Amino acid sequence: MSRPVIFAVDDDPQVLAAVTRDLRVRYAEDYQIVSAGSGAEALDAVHELADRGRAVALFLVDQRMPSMSGTEFLLEAQVTFPEAKRLLLTAYADTEAAIEAINEVGLDQYLLKPWTPPEDKLYPILDDALDDWQASARKPFEGVRVFGTTWSPTTYEIKAFLARNEVPYLFIDIDRDAEGATLASGAADGSKELPVVLLEDNTVFVNPDKSVLAEAVGIHTSAESPFYDLIVVGGGPAGLAAAVYGASEGLSTAMIEREAPGGQAGTSNRIENYLGFPKGVSGADLARRAIAQATRLGAELITAAEVASVDASGALKTVHLADGSELTCRALIIASGMAVRRLSVPGYEQFEGAGIYYGAAATEAATYRDKHVYVIGGANSAGQAAVMFSKTSSKVTMIVRSGDLAAKMSAYLVDQIGAIDNIEVLTSTSVVEVTGSDRVESIRLENRESGDQEEREASALFIFVGAVPHSGFLEDPIRMNDKGFIYTGTDVKTFSESWPLDRDPLPLETSVPGVFAAGDVREGAVRRVASAVGEGSIAVSFVHRYLDTV
Ligand SMILES: Cc1cc2nc3c(=O)[nH]c(=O)nc-3n(C[C@H](O)[C@H](O)[C@H](O)COP(=O)(O)OP(=O)(O)OC[C@H]3O[C@@H](n4cnc5c(N)ncnc54)[C@H](O)[C@@H]3O)c2cc1C
Repeated sequence: MSRPVIFAVDDDPQVLAAVTRDLRVRYAEDYQIVSAGSGAEALDAVHELADRGRAVALFLVDQRMPSMSGTEFLLEAQVTFPEAKRLLLTAYADTEAAIEAINEVGLDQYLLKPWTPPEDKLYPILDDALDDWQASARKPFEGVRVFGTTWSPTTYEIKAFLARNEVPYLFIDIDRDAEGATLASGAADGSKELPVVLLEDNTVFVNPDKSVLAEAVGIHTSAESPFYDLIVVGGGPAGLAAAVYGASEGLSTAMIEREAPGGQAGTSNRIENYLGFPKGVSGADLARRAIAQATRLGAELITAAEVASVDASGALKTVHLADGSELTCRALIIASGMAVRRLSVPGYEQFEGAGIYYGAAATEAATYRDKHVYVIGGANSAGQAAVMFSKTSSKVTMIVRSGDLAAKMSAYLVDQIGAIDNIEVLTSTSVVEVTGSDRVESIRLENRESGDQEEREASALFIFVGAVPHSGFLEDPIRMNDKGFIYTGTDVKTFSESWPLDRDPLPLETSVPGVFAAGDVREGAVRRVASAVGEGSIAVSFVHRYLDTV
């Protein structure tokens, strides 16, 4: 297979020679380095590469070129290679143009000239961009095949599980592929359950348990040691940050995640407000980076393993896993987050995964290409989903209970939605019924002010209507509010009498000394990626303070 291309463009022959040389030194083994001395010459080469079926991974382009600026070139080139990473080379005086280009051409990064030494100023930025490209470029089919139907909820769950754990798979819709249907039914020995999962070595699983499937496809599912200094429950932003800080600060650290690292953030198509990512970052990218960082620093990430209960009364805390095994630790951070609330409207349960989806379900965008979809909810997550679907679906209707979209949504999103033609917003409206045969076909809407009802055709509803904490595996003496969010710090003494020590609880410490809570599962949390990451990180410094006292 031909190597993907890194493409450098600069009208100054000396600069072009220098950048090409630096690119060759580092990347020639995995990428072909192509260069051009003007935008026009580069565009010809871009079209030729496309004609030859080649992939361009990255453009590194000078901004100030006389006949065609770097930004103008990138605008043209991205039509042919939309997935390629776009980087501008700028002089200090051109940084303004580079920042504008972030919106104009979806610029990924800009680099200031000169970039010496490249080890510090060029390669780290390019490595990052190329890692992103590798992760998002279409992955080759490597063996796992999932046979099911688009409307089967269990098929949807397994597809989402594999995707979020970055396991490449091929989906075969047995409603459309007769050969696939025969193969699946033979492999499943007549079972009607879906999906049928076939591994490369022909091992067959029928509607498998996720932990069994995880083990079989090589995800790390069990602990290497029975004892750790620190165990982190949950692998969302808070848990991943705690794992990074715990491991980097010398604690033997295990993070246990029952689904896929990334948590709720991992399901978000674009996080716009996380510091350091001017263009926004997808939850999947952020999770991938955090996993790599935590692993490199020595944390052990155990995935598809669920914590069933915790015994934290003694100096050593015991974590019981759902498979019956147990692990012990000196300190525990609960970062188990929360989940979106389910709706109790006739029809909702029956169609979950078959037209009803909770969360952004980016995996479904392709299924609903050019169709009309509904997004239920009026907070930021609903707004982001509406914007995401507006790019691929023919129309998006937002159903919002309150009378004003701005009531719970950030102003920037309200403005963004207002500017998109194919998003319709119905305020003061609820869904009161969902009907269909094997999947959603229609919904009944009610205007909450007039009581008027209307039946509409619908193929998909994406629901974002509130939260339930993941704290069912905890019990007294870890104190929680009536909804199950965990009290920490000063709240512990305000809301309960169960604090056993003379000293006050540390910030983020729960009512049990040595057990901390971080992120969305904590009462009073801000429920954003940045605050979850912040809490997960600083929780580790309180773990050190606690360990100094025992
Ligand atoms: C669609 C969507 C879009 C969002 N967009 C943004 C945004 O743009 N900007 C922003 O700042 N915030 C955004 N948020 C909010 C942000 O994602 C959350 O605030 C953040 O993920 C909270 O992190 P956390 O680690 O506390 O919890 P979570 O992300 O909920 O992670 C908790 C993890 O713990 C695991 N877990 C739970 N129980 C157990 C158990 N018993 N055993 C093992 N593991 C367990 C779960 O599987 C989960 O992976 C968005 C949320 C959603 C749903």
